[in-house]
Amino acid sequence: MHRLSIDIQGRLALPEDLRRRYRLRDGEKFLLEKTESGLALHLLRPGVRKVYLEPTTRCNLNCRTLRAQRVGGTAGGYEASNMAQLSYRQVLVGKMLIGVLGLDELFDELYTQGRLPDEEGLGTELAGRARKHNYIPPPAVDEYARALLREYREYAESPTAGYGAWRGHPREHIPWFPTLATDLCDNCGACLKFCSFGVFETAEDGKIVAAEPLKCQVGCSACVTICRPRAISFPPRTILDAFRPVG
Ligand code: SF4
Ligand code: SF4
Repeated sequence: MHRLSIDIQGRLALPEDLRRRYRLRDGEKFLLEKTESGLALHLLRPGVRKVYLEPTTRCNLNCRTLRAQRVGGTAGGYEASNMAQLSYRQVLVGKMLIGVLGLDELFDELYTQGRLPDEEGLGTELAGRARKHNYIPPPAVDEYARALLREYREYAESPTAGYGAWRGHPREHIPWFPTLATDLCDNCGACLKFCSFGVFETAEDGKIVAAEPLKCQVGCSACVTICRPRAISFPPRTILDAFRPVG
């Protein structure tokens, strides 16, 4: 614990031995955080020079991030599939590119609820909810809020908003949807009635078309079986092998 004082100009003065010990330079920036036990001072030093990684397949659930707890893991290890089901995005937070899990799911939920990026306080809500699957250091919450709001704005303005993710990959990256052979299709409308996901529509000229291909459920090809003239086709299922679970 250190005793600090405020000088007559209202500046917090740090003792010389403290400055030397922590190699504090002039102009160094701090963040003052209100905590349950009082005020805490955090040094803002973004320039990370070394990161030590310890490869392991085990998780003891006691680290600061508690990632495994957040995705429903058990002590001593957790199912990779829990993480694999979440989407993964790299987001520019301040000056650093940071991997964030579960953003597509969160964005889809908000978008389908009609939540707009201009809504007051949405950035803070995004940062708060992103904490469920990611560790966000308390001093960086505002930075995350700005970054996630910017990301959500891009998402909401993109033409593929609301299509979700598959195995953690944005749906629009996966080329799985029906193709209709116009020379075989007799416009019977069976596929339109059969598919409950809204993939098919009747075009202005009365022809049945796959108007919303990204609504097709990845891996489903059920409508092939009800098309009598065999006008519907899908890519080979092996193309899905290229989309390994992210996480
Ligand atoms: S079920 Fe087949 S033939 Fe009938 S509208 Fe759909 S694609 Fe065309
Ligand atoms: S494969 Fe399934 S989800 Fe896709 S269009 Fe056909 S019925 Fe709909």
